[in-house]
Amino acid sequence: MCNNKTYRGFPLETHEIERRSQAPKRWMHICNYFRTCKKCHMDDLAAMPHAQQLAYKQKHDPDNYDLDAWLRLRDPDLKAPHRVTQGEVDEWTRKLFC
Ligand SMILES: [Zn+2]
Repeated sequence: MCNNKTYRGFPLETHEIERRSQAPKRWMHICNYFRTCKKCHMDDLAAMPHAQQLAYKQKHDPDNYDLDAWLRLRDPDLKAPHRVTQGEVDEWTRKLFC
């Protein structure tokens, strides 16, 4: 997010976009993770909307970005397919990177 590779000597941390408690069955999936410095992890991600987090994922790890798979972590039968939409992710992408 800030492009730092370390923060005060701490290495990058692995962030879970969807928390384990919200997706107990299918939590471990590469679409749910990205690496971030400790400061961004502590200060910025806790209250960040999922669509914004997914915009970072799509930008920096496009090969492992998968909105459908990510939605199914918490909602395997996809009963709420519009909980986060590609349009919302694209909107954040425009705000963050354009
Ligand atoms: Zn950072």
